[in-house]
Amino acid sequence: MVLPLASCAKREVVMPEREMLRIVDLEKGMVTVEKMVKSPAEWRQVMKPTRYWVMREAGTEQPFTGEYGKYQGTGTFYCAGCGTALFSGEHKFDSGTGWPSFWQPAAPQNVLKRADGDRVEVRCVRCDGHLGHVFDDGPPPTGLRYCINSISLTLTKS
Ligand SMILES: [Zn+2]
Repeated sequence: MVLPLASCAKREVVMPEREMLRIVDLEKGMVTVEKMVKSPAEWRQVMKPTRYWVMREAGTEQPFTGEYGKYQGTGTFYCAGCGTALFSGEHKFDSGTGWPSFWQPAAPQNVLKRADGDRVEVRCVRCDGHLGHVFDDGPPPTGLRYCINSISLTLTKS
């Protein structure tokens, strides 16, 4: 069925405001991307329930159960919600906590930190997905420990 154009022209379409961000693409350098905004129903369509619970409701996976806790190889860990590069295997260390731990993000611009009670929560800057928390008991050179849920990440090995 083809609708006459006039019927489209008369509809008032309110476009949501687009928010642009500057983030780091590990191959291209600084890039401008649109912030990814989806409704809970839209996120549920693209995520299994456990991932939705961790990333959209700030849940925490059980320690020693995640896919990447023991991984010690190289590669890049991308956001499971939007594909932003978040962490590198080069910065991963074994914290003994049962969660993937990194002493720095792949690029500081790509993560968002915010107060969560007496802890500091770490989120993906592009899709606002919950990743985990950052603590100040990590190894040199930063002394930081980004304690991240495996399920918030997807790994591309290199
Ligand atoms: Zn994301």
